[in-house]
Amino acid sequence: MSSSTHPHLGPCPICEQGQIRAARCPDCQGWVALCDECEAIWSDPRQFKTTKPTAQHPTCPHCGTTVEKWKFPNEQQLVRYGLEDMIVNRGAKSGPNS
Ligand SMILES: [Zn+2]
Ligand SMILES: [Zn+2]
Repeated sequence: MSSSTHPHLGPCPICEQGQIRAARCPDCQGWVALCDECEAIWSDPRQFKTTKPTAQHPTCPHCGTTVEKWKFPNEQQLVRYGLEDMIVNRGAKSGPNS
């Protein structure tokens, strides 16, 4: 039951080790880009390649809450949000689910 199939948006421009994932704040539902290595956060997932991080885990840049567990939307939700062209591992679905 591995769950390492979350959609990635590409390598982290800050630490160059981690992968950027789109995540959502469980409090305000705001979207962010989050590095799974250095935990840098961008308040706009589309801008992580061109702008500096706006926050650092566990602080939500939108509402300022301390986030214990980010929600990681699946590929379908990212597509609906308009991040389709940013997903680098499209098609890496977690399994038969329809
Ligand atoms: Zn990083
Ligand atoms: Zn928030």
